[in-house]
Amino acid sequence: MQKENAYKTNIKRNGVTAVSGLVMGVARIYTRGNININPDPIDEVRLPDEKKKFIQARKTVGMTMERLSDFADSRNDSDTRDIMDAQYEILNDPELEAMVYRLIDEKSIRAEKAIYDAFQHYIDLIKATDKSFLVSRLSDLRDMRDRLIQNVQQLAVIASFGKDAVMVTDDVSPIEVITFARNGVKGIICTAGGLTSHASIIANAMGIPMIIDAKSVLRTVQDGDTIILDGYGQNVIIRPDDEASSSYTRVIKRQKEEDKFLRHVIGKPAETLCGTKIELQANIDFEDEVLNIEKYRAEGIGLLRTDALLMNAGPLTMDRSRQEHFCQTAYAGSGSGTVTVRLLDVGGDKLLNIKSKEANPFLGWRGVRILLDRRELLQSQLESICRVAGRYPGRTRILVPMISSLDEFLEVKKEFEDLQQTLEKRGVPVDRNIKLGIMVEVPSVALQIRKFAPYVDFFSIGTNDLTQYTLAVDRGNNLISSLYQPLHPAVLTFISMTIQAGEEFHIPVSVCGELASDPYAALILAGLGVRELSMTPRLIPKVKQAIRLYEIEEIREISKKVLECNTRSEREAARKEWRRFYDEKLKEERSKINAL
Ligand code: PEP
Ligand code: MG
Repeated sequence: MQKENAYKTNIKRNGVTAVSGLVMGVARIYTRGNININPDPIDEVRLPDEKKKFIQARKTVGMTMERLSDFADSRNDSDTRDIMDAQYEILNDPELEAMVYRLIDEKSIRAEKAIYDAFQHYIDLIKATDKSFLVSRLSDLRDMRDRLIQNVQQLAVIASFGKDAVMVTDDVSPIEVITFARNGVKGIICTAGGLTSHASIIANAMGIPMIIDAKSVLRTVQDGDTIILDGYGQNVIIRPDDEASSSYTRVIKRQKEEDKFLRHVIGKPAETLCGTKIELQANIDFEDEVLNIEKYRAEGIGLLRTDALLMNAGPLTMDRSRQEHFCQTAYAGSGSGTVTVRLLDVGGDKLLNIKSKEANPFLGWRGVRILLDRRELLQSQLESICRVAGRYPGRTRILVPMISSLDEFLEVKKEFEDLQQTLEKRGVPVDRNIKLGIMVEVPSVALQIRKFAPYVDFFSIGTNDLTQYTLAVDRGNNLISSLYQPLHPAVLTFISMTIQAGEEFHIPVSVCGELASDPYAALILAGLGVRELSMTPRLIPKVKQAIRLYEIEEIREISKKVLECNTRSEREAARKEWRRFYDEKLKEERSKINAL
């Protein structure tokens, strides 16, 4: 029997594609739920997983405490800050961990029940004293207990969704995207979010198609509905009818065939028909992605984001061994290629979220600004990079993020040179060939790029931020996502200025923003003179395929055309025209491959 609905089936909802792809699956509405404790014992084989859930939840709750503590600090609210800091200590108390573990083992219970009982133990102890200052802490303890349990349940909820799940949610954090990815989620539909928000970047890196700004989907969809996420058509189709289902099934099949063709280019060089070489490097955010460097034949790492290292650490502290391990994995996974390690770029919407603290976080305490204010953090990060680099001479580039003036770079350079000297004096093997470069992502730098050239070893253009700062369009704000135009002539002019300075001063220039991974944009960048593009490795074959189908002169023509477009509609028309010709080229290429 037909399901009775108050609304039509096969409703198309517009959204904006943050990560392209097409999937059909089961809609799972994701919200952060209430506490609900199941006291029943569970199978012993599940006990280690319950412990992991506790550890994961503790890390996430710890981050929230940090944020609240920072927020209180910024308002000179020392009472709240002290409470948060004290809670943070309880949270990380080894006795709490030992007790939760013991309860899980002895009673074979779920993490949430063990957390509840462990906190109850502390609460009972405090109640038994007559120390009023301790009694006043009871509500803090309950609060922390509830946050931990909520978190554990959230993880369990995500894990229970199954491999067919397409998450529908109002908003999603980078950490949640990682959890989705680890649980095999097929797609993400979000009512909020920005195209180059870090949640989107991570979804892209993990290969999860994502649509954002799909405002009305949550009002329409029911948990368990069949749903199609069409990232190519920027559509979400809820409860598709038979016709829609079979037409999308055909498209999905075609997509798989296209992937098959892409596999043909993986082992081929990234060069134009006339032999101009474009180096395609990898953007790596997490250790899990390192295997993709070899899989997609990236030529080294053009951007190793280290921001996730702070994800589960204490307030702005860097776990050196974790950082060294991450770098080590990156070198080991990238053959003899260059590894471009970017210094911490937290702040803005990044994993260590300090949004609550500032009115304009993207214009605030972020990247190098934090590093120069917290020298110990900068020194500690530089030291661990240099220690690992010493073991892989000639392969390291260090990239400084969020530079807006030369002074900032010179200060970092001084710290770096001092540190290299100190390490040498201590007898630590040092690579004297490490290159120190900057992200070109703030207009003041692009405008003054020739002034940086004498001091800098390489430029890496961050089009995600360069677009947001040039056009004054918040990269994470869905209300204005249509204004976010990385191919805007103003952005392209800054890119051209950087390339010219690079050529004049013999400084390599790469592009590591999301723009580099869009085949059309990659051609435009190559036409402007960029010879290094860095992107999430999974997208390398698509870009390589495009580069291999053109002569460099033709590519220059494509760039020229877009530079002449002054309006969005002109740019859209230029892109459509290119697409038409490109599809023809692809068809020819495929018939050649089929004939082999
Ligand atoms: C950029 O801004 O383009 C960039 C690569 O850095 P992130 O996205 O990490 O800010
Ligand atoms: Mg940036």
